[in-house]
Amino acid sequence: MKRVRADLHIHSVISPCADLEMSPANIVARAVQMGLQLIAVTDHNSTLHGPLTRRLALKSGIYCLYGAEINTREEIHCLCLVDTEEQRLALQAFLEQNIIHIPNNPDIFGYQVVVNEQEEIEQEIDYLLHAAVNKSIDEVAEFINSIQGLFIPAHVDRPKYSVTSQLGFVPPTLQFDALEISRNTSVDAFKAANPLKPGTVFIRNSDAHFINQIGTQYTDYCLDEISFNGLKAALSGWGGAGVYPFQ
Ligand SMILES: [Zn+2]
Ligand SMILES: [Zn+2]
Repeated sequence: MKRVRADLHIHSVISPCADLEMSPANIVARAVQMGLQLIAVTDHNSTLHGPLTRRLALKSGIYCLYGAEINTREEIHCLCLVDTEEQRLALQAFLEQNIIHIPNNPDIFGYQVVVNEQEEIEQEIDYLLHAAVNKSIDEVAEFINSIQGLFIPAHVDRPKYSVTSQLGFVPPTLQFDALEISRNTSVDAFKAANPLKPGTVFIRNSDAHFINQIGTQYTDYCLDEISFNGLKAALSGWGGAGVYPFQ
């Protein structure tokens, strides 16, 4: 078992609100500098920078999961993490089929660009990725479960775009692998204010939109291997894997 530092909520230049410096190459370089061994690029409703970021991460000796931050019909942000190209393509197809298509105005919302290793623009997404998908949080959770992904409601304590801001509580029937908490509260304070299933696992990430935010918030995991399955075991508490407690 090893102690592995991970930041699983990082936005790239595909996200309209992310800084244009957030290229896969810059993200990986900063992640290495910050001592991260496991990262995930989770753009708003897009997985398109996953493959390039993983390739660059592997060259630098760290691992990058595929993922997206899905905005559900209720406007709840949820981290969805997967590992194989087949899962990523299924997730990307789900997003493209279900997002409510609103044209993006880059002057107002920001640019949404896919870049290559040389940071040249390869594609610009013309519909607004920050829009919601036409699926409820339960439907998104069910879909992610069906492709064996990890489903983690994001920044659950925040006053906007969170399960508590939109629903007022964490539904007891919601299927999730962990809850992501922001740095604005503690696990104990959140638990005190919200009834939760026993054994609910919390993680913390940076939600970086700028390079200098990467790795400023993170979670340490006890893993037998740095991989998707290793992370899954840690979130499930299997075989001695786990999440190091934090405040
Ligand atoms: Zn968010
Ligand atoms: Zn985010």
